[in-house]
Amino acid sequence: MNLIFLGPPGAGKGTQAVRVCERLGIPQISTGDILRSAIRNQTPTGLAAKSYIDKGELVPDSVMIDIVRERLAHADCAGGFLLDGFPRTVAQAQALKGFASIDAVIDIDVSDETLVARLSGRRVCPACGGTYHVSRLAGATTCEKCGQTLVQRDDDKAETVLSRLAVYHAQTEPLIGFYTQRGLIRKIDGAQPVDDCFAAILRALGEGK
Ligand code: AMP
Repeated sequence: MNLIFLGPPGAGKGTQAVRVCERLGIPQISTGDILRSAIRNQTPTGLAAKSYIDKGELVPDSVMIDIVRERLAHADCAGGFLLDGFPRTVAQAQALKGFASIDAVIDIDVSDETLVARLSGRRVCPACGGTYHVSRLAGATTCEKCGQTLVQRDDDKAETVLSRLAVYHAQTEPLIGFYTQRGLIRKIDGAQPVDDCFAAILRALGEGK
């Protein structure tokens, strides 16, 4: 199954993507993770992308399209894949049509108010990518899976969160119309508990019990 996870930052795309990929045995292709790894490794792409990410802006379409086209050509994508964070503009979606066919687009829907609370309280493990929320950490500051000290992503700081949401509404939300026209959108209430959201996604994909 070739899937896209759409939704604003903080909707839970990453959390749900991990679970869905595990269940379906397909790779999760998170463009945000690819870019953050490029930044850590100081590659030319990473160095170019950093200033956009730090401001909460989108990395140019041409860069993202090349990254995803190259990634989807890997053998592990032959049996399906889940795109998490791509496409984010209509231009990216148009380009994607040229090199992949999509079976379903999961649109995880959450109000802006909830997103701001989620993103500004999000803490991540820089080693394993685990994601937490301060309200559930009970004061803990390390990753329960690998013991690393948790950090706040620079782009989860309050000012950047607001610009990421504005960018989402202006540039990514139009994709809901784009994929609705193609009959691919499956809308999911992202405000429900994580397990319920997962179950709803599986049902929407015809994989639920
Ligand atoms: P994410 O982890 O998906 O929230 O992505 C973090 C940041 O990476 C975004 O705020 C953008 O700056 C950049 N980014 C990730 N995916 C894309 C994309 N498909 N197009 C443009 N920029 C992207």
